Amino acid sequence: MDYDVVVVGAGPAGCLAAKYAAKNGAKTLIIEEHASIGSPVQCAGLLSTRAIRECEVVLDSGFHPIKGAFVYAPDRRRICISGGEIKAYVVDRRIFDRTLAENAVRSGADILMRTRAVGIDIDMETRGHGHGHGRRRILHVAIEGEPDVIEADIVIGADGVQSRIAQWAGLDTPETALSGAQISTVYDFDDPEFVEIFPGSCAPGFFAWAIPHHGSARIGLAVRPGFGSGSAWAHLKRLIAEYPVVSEKCDPGITGIALGGIPISVPQQTAAEGLLIIGDAAGQVKPTSGGGVYPGAVCAKIAGKIAADAVLEGNTSAGRLSEYDKLWRARIGRELVIGRRVNEWMARLSDSEINRLVGVLDDDELLDLITRYGDMDHPSVVVRKLLMNRKSMGAFLKMALMR
Ligand SMILES: Cc1cc2nc3c(=O)[nH]c(=O)nc-3n(C[C@H](O)[C@H](O)[C@H](O)COP(=O)(O)OP(=O)(O)OC[C@H]3O[C@@H](n4cnc5c(N)ncnc54)[C@H](O)[C@@H]3O)c2cc1C
Repeated sequence: MDYDVVVVGAGPAGCLAAKYAAKNGAKTLIIEEHASIGSPVQCAGLLSTRAIRECEVVLDSGFHPIKGAFVYAPDRRRICISGGEIKAYVVDRRIFDRTLAENAVRSGADILMRTRAVGIDIDMETRGHGHGHGRRRILHVAIEGEPDVIEADIVIGADGVQSRIAQWAGLDTPETALSGAQISTVYDFDDPEFVEIFPGSCAPGFFAWAIPHHGSARIGLAVRPGFGSGSAWAHLKRLIAEYPVVSEKCDPGITGIALGGIPISVPQQTAAEGLLIIGDAAGQVKPTSGGGVYPGAVCAKIAGKIAADAVLEGNTSAGRLSEYDKLWRARIGRELVIGRRVNEWMARLSDSEINRLVGVLDDDELLDLITRYGDMDHPSVVVRKLLMNRKSMGAFLKMALMR
């Protein structure tokens, strides 16, 4: 088998990269190790309206609309953040990812299921390939268990948080990853158009969530290594059994469990000779929310286009492909860096500090500011507004001085 571009992994990032590579003239193949796209689900499925647009997916009646969030402090005080309009949807990732894969196929990409990448080499024979820039890649695969080889000008690693492609290519993998755990169950939401967020020691280093989806709920949390003790799963069991608010509204009957890592730091480099990494494999995830579909989609589309252009130019050198690295960082790099700082700050707050913070934000002027400038995909905007506001800045300073 011989392709211009081979994408490893049929998650949202891989499917969008393949779509853009094929659309821009490259003979493209996606390989996916599982027998079914989107399974097993490792996601709450909460996507902003912008993320859905970025993925180029048409709104569907299966998408559950979300208008805002209730944030609960550990002392049960809650604030409501809502502008009254639909800000996001909760989707079924099995269906969502399959739609993205179909869109890639419609754009001309081939797809091979039950095909696992097991190794990657550089084809030493191809020194001087094309116009002399960049050697081809040899991807070792197991197709339904049988060893085989696929040759490609460029391999795109879209193989998720534990990317082997990045490791084999000698690129760093994201150094910080949260551990996530989530169950599907029945939950008594006060308003099924609102998600519920629980910051504090119930989820050390991150937060817990309750997300409605057509009469059922996804209750989950993520924890950050080095913060608190115990696994994400142990914290989640405690959350549903004894945490205020959640334990009272959550049914003990569990209908599904999802466990997975969430990278929140980006590696130094995301391009090498004949190779790019995208999505979770490249740590392209919002550190404030753990949402990876939007940033992954933005970067995947850049990667697909650059890969096709580079193949058609006959230059797949690391230098040529580093344009991808520059372009995606220019588009969302700053947002990820600011998000990381916010995450670092939030992760270190004690329960009593979170109680105080929620108390400060429970103010008409500040809630109005958060509602107006709050943006799931660009949290830096509201952070800047809060830092410029006299009331909130005064309270933040007081909290910092009292530490
Ligand atoms: C508990 C939890 C909740 C989350 N909730 C949200 C949310 O609400 N909203 C949001 O935006 N994000 C959420 N995320 C993050 C989101 O799921 C990821 O950021 C997103 O799926 C990343 O997409 P991706 O295409 O980069 O990788 P993935 O979706 O992980 O896809 C990688 C694909 O590569 C395949 N693969 C891996 N290795 C190989 C190999 N060697 N050969 C062939 N195929 C391979 C895998 O089977 C998989 O299909 C959540 C994550 C967790 C863990």
